[in-house]
Amino acid sequence: TYAWFSQRAWVEIDLGALSFNVHQLRSLLSPRTELMAVVKADAYGHGSVTVAQTVLQSGASWLGVATVPEGIQLREAGIKAPILILGATHTLEQIHAIAHWKLQPTLCSPKQALIFSDTLEAIKFTDSIPVHIKLDTGMSRLGTNWQQAGEFVQLVHSLPHLEIKSIYSHLATADSLDPQVMIQQHQRFESAIAQIKALGIKPPSLHLANSAATLADPALHYDMVRVGLAIYGLSPAVHLRSRLDLKPVLQLKARVTHIKTIAAGTGVSYGHQFIAPHEMRLAVVGIGYADGVPRNLSGKMQVLIQGRRVPQIGAITMDQLMLDVSTLPNIQEGEIVTLLGEEGKEKITADDWAEQLNTISWEILCGFKHRLPRVGV
Ligand code: PLP
Repeated sequence: TYAWFSQRAWVEIDLGALSFNVHQLRSLLSPRTELMAVVKADAYGHGSVTVAQTVLQSGASWLGVATVPEGIQLREAGIKAPILILGATHTLEQIHAIAHWKLQPTLCSPKQALIFSDTLEAIKFTDSIPVHIKLDTGMSRLGTNWQQAGEFVQLVHSLPHLEIKSIYSHLATADSLDPQVMIQQHQRFESAIAQIKALGIKPPSLHLANSAATLADPALHYDMVRVGLAIYGLSPAVHLRSRLDLKPVLQLKARVTHIKTIAAGTGVSYGHQFIAPHEMRLAVVGIGYADGVPRNLSGKMQVLIQGRRVPQIGAITMDQLMLDVSTLPNIQEGEIVTLLGEEGKEKITADDWAEQLNTISWEILCGFKHRLPRVGV
């Protein structure tokens, strides 16, 4: 029989695994600690609306995005949960959209706080919007330096239309084996909170931890944790893997679109980087670098078919790649190929790709393009 198909390649999202991971993470937290699911960058490539709906049903109570359009996309889908914009926003259009869609901005500097307050005054906004104060305790990215925390909070506190909802910072090295920098950032965060208290301002909600810090140390949980990678079922570091059982949510799949036999000495793909050492059964698969399979994996990656590992050969092309399936004489066109995921006893993870490419699993997950439909299972 000839198995044909509607999709040549897709990203499969295991919503059961997603829900399991959220439950697992909640089990590490005190009941008073809220769980923010970080769903920026299309939920790390998993599809933000479906992910947001699932995590909110499973024990997360906040969502974190990077940009205003990411927040609007969730609101347009009917999501009512509080949404924090982790990135910086400044413009009139952004401030309008934040007020209109009830998104919650991060304030990083006195200048930005004044722009927000003045703009809301100018548009005759009658209410206050919830804002989140970002302190830099050592990441050297967004935020006012922790030494100026007191002055900054006092200013925002005094401005009309702004209501401080939380004070937060981001850790630079929580996934490292050496805890020294993380300890220093924790101390600086505590010192910033002490400055704020000394001014007679009761600190609102506090948060500091990403996935790694959530797994590493309950002392870093405060009132909320902001978890990205771990909800998608990957561990931020090898030494943190044993802390919590997590299930990878994403699998990358494609179909065999053509099978043929090539003679010994035949070159395969652009540049003929691979020459068949003997007669070989070759399978073409309908996925390529335009879908997010990194071309740098050419000739280095393996995939799973029928629960067996087979090597990819020759250069990965824009829309297609080739496999040596000589060991699988019975495979057919239409057969499903697992590029990332599990089949039987075999498993290939985003961590495996990240290691081969000298990068991190976060980048692998975010790399899958919109040409690949996200299919919930
Ligand atoms: N908090 C902030 C401010 C972030 O930028 C991110 C992601 O980069 C996270 C939390 C979540 O990080 P992770 O995916 O390591 O849990």
